[in-house]
Amino acid sequence: MQRKTLLISPELCIGCRGCQTACKAWNRLPATKTANKGSFENPPDLTPYVYNKIRYVEAPSEANPVRWLFISQRCMHCEDAGCMKICPAPGALFRTKEGAVAFNKDKCIGCKLCIAGCPFNIPRYDEKDKISKCHLCPDRIAGGLEPACAKTCPTGAIAFGDRSAIIAGARNAGYRKLYGEADLGGLGVLYAFKESPEFYGMNEKPAIPESIVFWHNVLKPLALIGLGGAVAGSVLHYLAIGPKRDGEGGEK
Ligand code: SF4
Ligand code: SF4
Ligand code: SF4
Repeated sequence: MQRKTLLISPELCIGCRGCQTACKAWNRLPATKTANKGSFENPPDLTPYVYNKIRYVEAPSEANPVRWLFISQRCMHCEDAGCMKICPAPGALFRTKEGAVAFNKDKCIGCKLCIAGCPFNIPRYDEKDKISKCHLCPDRIAGGLEPACAKTCPTGAIAFGDRSAIIAGARNAGYRKLYGEADLGGLGVLYAFKESPEFYGMNEKPAIPESIVFWHNVLKPLALIGLGGAVAGSVLHYLAIGPKRDGEGGEK
């Protein structure tokens, strides 16, 4: 199967949040209570029960004093995925045949290292339910359906299809470059931005944290051949838990 991709076009999004609701409904994610903090953006962040949320970007100008732009925030299904690089539990995070990064809660050991390894701050953890994030609806794709968010979107702001066809379509629509085309080996979620990525709160050049790259390239192979296991374990502990604090018998 060809790699599948979502194309997000913020200029087409009307902020209806149908994609959020469809995702929750399909994935049977419970509702959670939120508080109004002076913005229509709700919920305020991804949670273990919110795989996809719409961020509201207020961008007033002299010509247009009330200007809102909306952008879908979710797992990017990176080809070079920091979460998979650091995960020590085989099969807890895995690549689906359509190229998405999915999870298996039964194999997750709750170390939370994938959270440290993600350049986009995506995975969420729940003590009872372990790791969660968008998985690109592999059950729907297997049944010949689009992901729930793309199916629901009334404006075409979330398009789904073969990666090459999605990119070709965007070129025809006048986008010379899409966000995510080349980043991290190519993202499985592309963005058709008219403004700079920073305008939407996105990093222009997303990168896996250096500590994760070091763990993957140097310490993990050492640990695998039985050398430096203690060092690797210490680094793993540091990445997951952080340095010792006052009262833990360690350094200040
Ligand atoms: S966005 Fe984060 S969680 Fe999703 S595949 Fe990339 S590194 Fe993993
Ligand atoms: S692809 Fe599926 S899991 Fe991911 S945001 Fe869309 S509906 Fe939710
Ligand atoms: S369903 Fe489409 S238009 Fe509505 S908020 Fe989601 S991306 Fe935007």
